[in-house]
Amino acid sequence: MSWSPGRTERPRRRPPRQVEVAEVRRLTARMVAVTFAGESLAGFAEPVPTAHVKLFLPDAQGHVAQPVVGPDGHLRWPDGRPTMRTYTPRRFDAEANTLEVWFVLHGDGPAARWAAEARPGSRAAIGGPGGRFSVDPEARRWWIGGDESALPAIATLLEALPEGAEGEVHLEVQAAEDRIPLPAPAGVSPTWHDRAGEPGVTLVDTLRRAPLDDDTHVWIACEAQAVREARSYLLTDRGLPRPRVTTRGYWRVGAANHPDHDSGED
Ligand SMILES: Cc1cc2nc3c(=O)[nH]c(=O)nc-3n(C[C@H](O)[C@H](O)[C@H](O)COP(=O)(O)OP(=O)(O)OC[C@H]3O[C@@H](n4cnc5c(N)ncnc54)[C@H](O)[C@@H]3O)c2cc1C
Repeated sequence: MSWSPGRTERPRRRPPRQVEVAEVRRLTARMVAVTFAGESLAGFAEPVPTAHVKLFLPDAQGHVAQPVVGPDGHLRWPDGRPTMRTYTPRRFDAEANTLEVWFVLHGDGPAARWAAEARPGSRAAIGGPGGRFSVDPEARRWWIGGDESALPAIATLLEALPEGAEGEVHLEVQAAEDRIPLPAPAGVSPTWHDRAGEPGVTLVDTLRRAPLDDDTHVWIACEAQAVREARSYLLTDRGLPRPRVTTRGYWRVGAANHPDHDSGED
């Protein structure tokens, strides 16, 4: 149900769900899978492919702030707004009420630091899921690209592709030890690239050599500046139809808390 000016009550935002870490698994040299658990995850909506969640981090004392819902339906934070970052719900298990999230351990950032130190019992809160992406069942050809931060989203996208899908997946990572097995239909082959130069440059160079036609659906997420180059190249130089191109800047060199939903359109 959507809010309209004629109605007297605004929709009430759901406060984030308080969760506890149940398990931490090392996936690669620079990535951990954190499984969150908690009764509060009951009713968490089945995420669409490439969906996102909001991760609310604890303060230095380990306390996770909890908001109240104001009379206008918006969340208020009596103890101050906690640090929040965006992640991909990699897997939700509705029977066990567990949610898996994969974190890049890139070093310098509150979320990356939290994930590096997360242990069973560590606390956080989760908002969402959000996201409206859906796989066009008619789409046969795909060109998918991303860096480490997009590996979880790409895994959810590959799992959602129909059996007959064809195409290429290109993953730019720091080094060979950052590679992981990915689920993919037989016709979609992942290719791994070790990063050479600035983040995203290798991926964009690969895109420039890609065999693309009007029917190819492109999905790319990586560093925001590289996303801008990729999007402009696809739409301007290659003339791909806009609806076939999905691009997201997931983070930006030198910027903390890069805004969500950065399509790289500017
Ligand atoms: C829709 C969406 C889904 C996402 N899903 C995931 C996911 O599942 N897993 C995941 O790990 N990330 C994911 N990200 C990216 C993640 O939100 C950012 O990397 C975020 O900035 C991490 O927060 P932080 O507190 O660690 O660093 P910040 O405080 O935001 O940044 C601190 C410094 O670290 C740098 N930095 C941030 N991220 C990276 C990175 N990935 N590599 C190198 N340097 C970096 C910044 O440039 C800055 O200089 C997603 C982003 C979006 C928009």
